[in-house]
Order: sequence, then C-alpha cells, then structure tokens
Amino acid sequence: MLGPIELAVRIAGRLGYTTDGMDIRQSLDATIEKAEHHPGIGSDPLPAAPTSSPRTPFESHIPFMQQALAHMGWREMIGMVRRMPKLKGQMKRGSTFFDKTFEPRRRTLTAAERADLVSFMKARGALEVGFLPDVDPRLVFAGKTLPERHAIVFTVEMDRAEMATAPSARAFLEVIDGYGALGKIAADTSAWLRARGIAAYPGTNLGGQTDYPAMAEAAGIGAIGYHGLLIGPGAGARTRVSTIYVGIDDLPAPHNPHLWVRDICANCRKCVRSCPPGAIEPAPVPKANGGMRTIRATACRDYFGRNWGCAVCLKVCPFSDKAYDAVKAAHDAARGVIPAPISTIDVPQVQVEGPRVAVIGAGAAGFYLARSILEDDPTARIDLFERLPFPHGLVRYGVAPDHPEVRNKGFTFDRMLEHPRVRLLAGVEIGRDVTPEDLRGAYDAVCLANGAPSDRRLVIEGEDLPGSYAAPDLVRWYNAHPDFYELDPRIGRKVAIIGHGNVALDTARMLLTHPQVLIRTDMMPEAAVRIAASRVEAVEVIGRSGPSQTSFTPKEIVELSELPGVQIVIDPDGLAADLALPLPDPQAERRRRRNLELFAGWAATPRDPAKRPVRIRFFRTPTAIVGTNAVEGLRLDVTRVADRGGRAKIEATGRIETMDCGTVIRAIGFRNVALPGLPFDTGRARVPVGPQGRVLDRTDGRPVPFLYAAGWARRGPIGVIGTNKTDAEEVAEALRADLAAAPDRRGAAGLVPAGAISSEDWTDIAREEKRRGAVRGHGPLRFVDTDEVRAWLDSHGRRRLNDPTLPPEAPEAGRPDPRFIHI
Ligand SMILES: Cc1cc2nc3c(=O)[nH]c(=O)nc-3n(C[C@H](O)[C@H](O)[C@H](O)COP(=O)(O)OP(=O)(O)OC[C@H]3O[C@@H](n4cnc5c(N)ncnc54)[C@H](O)[C@@H]3O)c2cc1C
Ligand code: SF4
Ligand code: SF4
Repeated sequence: MLGPIELAVRIAGRLGYTTDGMDIRQSLDATIEKAEHHPGIGSDPLPAAPTSSPRTPFESHIPFMQQALAHMGWREMIGMVRRMPKLKGQMKRGSTFFDKTFEPRRRTLTAAERADLVSFMKARGALEVGFLPDVDPRLVFAGKTLPERHAIVFTVEMDRAEMATAPSARAFLEVIDGYGALGKIAADTSAWLRARGIAAYPGTNLGGQTDYPAMAEAAGIGAIGYHGLLIGPGAGARTRVSTIYVGIDDLPAPHNPHLWVRDICANCRKCVRSCPPGAIEPAPVPKANGGMRTIRATACRDYFGRNWGCAVCLKVCPFSDKAYDAVKAAHDAARGVIPAPISTIDVPQVQVEGPRVAVIGAGAAGFYLARSILEDDPTARIDLFERLPFPHGLVRYGVAPDHPEVRNKGFTFDRMLEHPRVRLLAGVEIGRDVTPEDLRGAYDAVCLANGAPSDRRLVIEGEDLPGSYAAPDLVRWYNAHPDFYELDPRIGRKVAIIGHGNVALDTARMLLTHPQVLIRTDMMPEAAVRIAASRVEAVEVIGRSGPSQTSFTPKEIVELSELPGVQIVIDPDGLAADLALPLPDPQAERRRRRNLELFAGWAATPRDPAKRPVRIRFFRTPTAIVGTNAVEGLRLDVTRVADRGGRAKIEATGRIETMDCGTVIRAIGFRNVALPGLPFDTGRARVPVGPQGRVLDRTDGRPVPFLYAAGWARRGPIGVIGTNKTDAEEVAEALRADLAAAPDRRGAAGLVPAGAISSEDWTDIAREEKRRGAVRGHGPLRFVDTDEVRAWLDSHGRRRLNDPTLPPEAPEAGRPDPRFIHI
C-alpha cells in the first residue's frame, strides 16, 4: 500500500522539492534505504533471522507516465504539494533518531508511565497501541538490524468516507495523511521516551525494517485479514501501522483477542473476488519464514501504481464498511449456529463417503445444484462437468457486458469450487469426450444442467444469408465464446431484430451503446470495434403479436430508452389494435401494465430526428429474409390478434410489407439439445421431466433411476439466474429421497478425464483474465480460444502465479488495446 508515496515523491521531485542529503527524485526504495542506513546503531540490536524475507521493493517496472500521478488534475496537484513538505519533514525528523546510538539511562517503565505513554500517543491520534516485549527476528526484513529488540506498535485511522471513494485521488491523499500522522506520533513518542532516559527509535512511517501488520498482530492490537492488512477494533481495516523500537525490558506480554477475524475471512473472500488484478491468492501460500502469504505483492504494487494506490480490498472488507464491532456482534450471535466455514484451509478432510454425483454443465443451475445437494447431504461429492474450458455458462456468455454486477455473480459461484467436495472438470463435453452411459456407470447419480445450448430457427427463406444471425450466436460472439468469437458478423446501418423478449433488447442496446462506453465494458474488444465501426443508424424490434404479449421486462426496456442519443418509437396504431386478455400471474400482469404505460408514453413523444430510433413494431410476422448475396431486407406478414376462448391467437391479415435492412437478428429463443442415449422429446425439443426434476423414460413415462435435470435443461430457455436456485433445491430434495431408499448407492468411483481443467486451473485462468484486463484499466479480458487457454496453462499455470519473485508479464501481445482504438 505504499506505492502512491513513491509516486508522490517523484512528483514532488518534479516540482523541485529536495531534502538535505536526500534526493527525492530517486526511487522510494533508495530514499528509505538512506533513511534507515545507520549500521551499528542501538544498545541491544536485533538482526533479521536467516529465513527472513526481503522487503518487497517499491520500484515498479510501470513507466511513470502510466501511473496515476502522471495524470493528476490541479486539485490533486494542490493536495499533493500541500502534503509533501510535511511528509518530507517527518521522514527527515524520524531519520535523525538513528544518527547515533542513544545511551540509555534506564531500561524499565512503571505501569503508571506505561499508561501515560499510551495516553500521550492517543492524544496525538494513535488509535490502538500495543507492546511487543521480544520482536521475532523473522519479522525483521532480510538484511536489516533493529537498534533495539523490543517494540511499541500503533495504528492510526483513515477516514471512512474518503476511503470509500477508493481507488481515487481522495483516498490516496487520505493514505498520505495517515503516513504523516504515523511519522509524527512515532517521532514525538520517541522524544518523550528519550526524555525519560529510555532508548527509542521511530520506525519509518512508510514501512521499513519490519513487517508492520505482522508486528501489530504479534502485539495483539489486531489480526491480519486475508487481504494482508491489519484488522483491528474501531476502524477495522482502515488503519495504517507503524512501530517504535525501544530499550524497555519489562514490556507486558501481549494477548491477542482479535484472531476470530480469521473465521470471517474463511467464509468471506470478498477481497479475493474484488481485487482488480487478482493479486490476492485464493488460498494462502507458505513463505520461507514459516508464515503464510496471501498477496502477490508485485501484482498489487503494479496495479496500485496505476490506480491511486487502489485500496479496493480495504474498501470492500466488511470490517471497513460495517466496522469491527458490528461484525463481531454478528459473529458472536452466530457462533454455534453458522456451519463450518467453506474454505480449503479450514475444512478438515471428512472421510465419510457419500454419494458421488455428476452434474453436466457448470452454469448457474450446475452451481446451485452443487450447493443444494451438499446442503442436503454434506457427505456427497460433486463433479461439475463443463464442455468449455470456463465455467459460468450464460452468466459468462449471455449476460450483457454492461451489466457487470450480474456477470460478477459467476465469481460468487466460484466460492463453491473452494469446497473440498466439489470438483470442476472443465473442457470435457459429455456426449463427445465421455458418453452419458459411462458417466452413469461411474456415478451414483447424474444431473443434467446443460442449459439450452442451441438456437431456434424461423425456417423461412433467406435465413442463412450473410447478415442473418441467431441472437444467441451474436451474444456469444461479443462475449468471446470459444465457438463464436470468429463469427465476424456483417452489421448494417439498419438492423431488424425479430423477437419481443429481453435478449432482443440486450442486443439492440449493445448495437447502440456509444463506443467509448462499450470499450470500457468487458465485451470482447474486437466486437466493440466492429460494432462501433458499423455505425448502426436505426433498429427495428419486430414481434408477431401486440403490446400486451411482449416478454420485455420494464427495467430492460427503460434501460434501452435511457441510452444517450436513442429514442424508442412506438406506432400508435399498434397500441390501438392491442388485446389485453387477463393474465393468471399477478406479477406478469403488473409487468404488462407497466410496459403498456411505457409504450403509451413513447407513442405520444414527438420524434427527435437527432436521435437514433429503436422502432418497436407489433403485429408483424417475418416470412422471408430477402437479398441476393447478403441480407437486403425482410418480408413481413401483417397480423392481428384475436381472442380464441381466452387465449390470444395470431392471424394473418393478408397484408404484406417489405422493409430494408442490412442485418437480421433472430432473437426468438434458445433450444435444448439431446444428449446421446438419454431421453429427449424431439417434438418439443425438451428433456421429458417429471415432478422435482426427475427425468422420465420416453417409453413408459417412469422416472429413469438417479437421472435428474435442472435449470434451462429442465424448464427450457426461460427464467433468470435466481429461478435456477428453486429448481436445484427441488432436485436435491428428490435426490435425497431417492438415495434414502437405496443405501447401496454410495461411494461410486467417479472419473477424471485426461486433460480436464480443474478448479485451481480456473482460478489461475480467471486471475489472468483479470490481470490482462487491469493492465488496460478494463474488466476481465477473456481468453477466447480453447487451445490458447490450454497452451497458457501448460506454459504458466500455478507455478508462475505462486512465484512472487517473477515479474508480471508484459501485456498480452496481438490484441487491440481498447484505450487506443480510434473510432
Ligand atoms: C442473452 C442473455 C442474457 C441474460 N441476462 C440475464 C440477466 O441479466 N440476469 C439474469 O438473472 N439472467 C439472465 N439471463 C438468464 C440466465 O443466464 C439463465 O437463467 C441461466 O444462465 C441458465 O442457467 P443454466 O445453468 O440452466 O444454463 P447455462 O447458463 O447455459 O449453463 C449450461 C452449461 O452447460 C454446459 N454444457 C452444455 N452442454 C454440455 C455438455 N454436453 N457437456 C458438458 N457441459 C455442457 C454449457 O457450456 C454451459 O456452461 C440471460 C440469458 C441470456 C441468454
Ligand atoms: S474482505 Fe473478507 S476475506 Fe478479505 S480480509 Fe476482509 S473479511 Fe477477510
Ligand atoms: S485490491 Fe488488490 S491490487 Fe488493490 S490494493 Fe488490494 S491487493 Fe492490491
């Protein structure tokens, strides 16, 4: 967390600030070395242990012009200039204590003096003060020697509101203020002690000879959180730490009441998921000095150099947000009620062999199934088979790139992969690499969660012309799906989208979003460029029925209407011809009423010629896509809707229209596919399913033993992510009931196909995608090619990711950098 200071020093250097004997144009490493370099100082020195780690250098390979400070505005510049002389003065004052050995007159403090000392420090802004009677030499950085072997460790608080803006210049300046406060308290306290005849040397406020968070934990004033920062009472993780090395032989032995924080970390891992460059390890890595490491320091440092000191992990930590006391109260209340933490470090390997279940598909339904089955039977073992090298299904390849909060759901699913009884076996297609029959032989139960991977066709003339695409393919293309990233679609100035559901709206929104916005999303950069270059001028969203029969959700359609420079256009005739038959579901009825209000509002709004229209056309059925070598237009039958015994029936009116367009997108739904040898109703394109997701035999209609379906594989392509949860709970319940009646169905061997991509591999892949994106100031930049990801795993894998001594890689070559795309 010290990187910004290095940058601050450089900026101040550019502004001409220097100190005696300390050229602040030098790197921070050199500056600190100089401040600390006083060999032979101290009356009771303590050298580092042979196994001590070196301090992570602050020097970053990131060029100065790519760092945040190189781009600061006047306001930040003024903030920096105001703080730099103070910081410089504090560093200089602190270093003077090391000029020569202080000859102590005494080596003890009375209890009353100790209390005075703590009051003195708190009056100057210290939050917590702790004592370390004997510093563990392993906490001293390699090559360093402390002047005294005892220490006082203390913290200062950083402002909640300022840190909540991280990564930002405001949070960065708050961090600098924290360092300033540490420097002043350490120097004032050292002077106070020396005035009483006691040897005292203030630690460097920017870090220095010892591992400060570890010193603070040893002194009992907090516990180190998973993000490597100290978490203590009051401010949680919003603190800075410093030390004073003192010649006091009778400091009290510390006791640490804060180690329960680890229980929260074991169940939380929010910092791991939130760290933009993926610099926080998903599981701790042993260090040479016997401790554990969770941060890849170089990856963190290089990211925060570009992003105002980052501090995202500090910001998202529940201890920073809700505060220590509130988290502790909840923890104490839940003790004995909450289940054992789901974590690779804290869960003992339970030996009981329960049922081994294969789940086909690692999308939303697959993950919910794993969770529900394990909740019902903690002895179960789940293998998630996934045909792609990446899990998450449509959460990765369907959900729109400008909805990062929904896409991040995938990273929440990943917590299931930390469970010791869940295995990911990705890059394995059931039906191609393993037959369903073999799978059923190797497992006690099999669940289909393979979604609806195909698309529905219109079966009209011209459907395969260049320029005509299924929306599922187009969506997968811009989301960098391995099977579709090379689709290379022709996108004309005028686009017709067939279908009145949310996928149609998502597609329209992607085509009309401003390029500057698109390239900041985690859409495949090549797709963002292609869409931008297409300069779509108008979109028609066509449906065969009326406004009352659309499947749009109001939120999605409002989002489209709010796109800058876009206007939704509604033909008033369509509204007049509507037929709103009562809907049985009150929620659907509410949604319809809201849609109708919105449509009426837009129908009454005058057309703004400066805006690009999204015209929603009702009562039109496509009958042919016209064109010679590519799409040139769309032929439509005009329809009407009639009430046939309480059901809306669409009828042709005999009127035909032809519209010009360069692209036709069929957003008429996804389709389930058969897996070889398993029951499938070809007519309905659906797996036949009975109550609670039991798959039924096509011949006798009875449940096939221990075969189930959930998610889109069960219901067809309807429902949002959360809908799959209820589904999964039902299947888990059915499985538990069926297994209770078959006690022999336990402990099947399972199978691990050669070359399967594991949970650990996926962690590395996801982290590398985040890193590649972060290098561009971007969301994750995805691997697109299955061979590419396998080659990357072969050449890098965990070895590189866990080796902090290797520098981060150069940005990936060969793909466009979105910041430099000119449109
Ligand atoms: C364009 C689009 C946008 C959406 N936006 C949202 C949204 O914003 N919010 C929301 O809540 N919901 C949204 N949804 C709905 C949500 O994505 C689905 O409800 C959910 O993904 C369905 O989960 P699933 O696991 O059944 O299927 P999927 O997510 O499709 O997962 C199935 C998995 O099975 C794998 N698989 C298939 N065949 C095999 C095989 N033979 N062997 C091994 N693996 C196989 C697939 O690769 C896939 O990973 C959207 C859907 C789409 C299409
Ligand atoms: S964010 Fe969660 S896991 Fe990370 S340190 Fe805070 S409590 Fe621990
Ligand atoms: S979120 Fe990651 S990059 Fe940012 S400060 Fe924390 S560890 Fe470093």
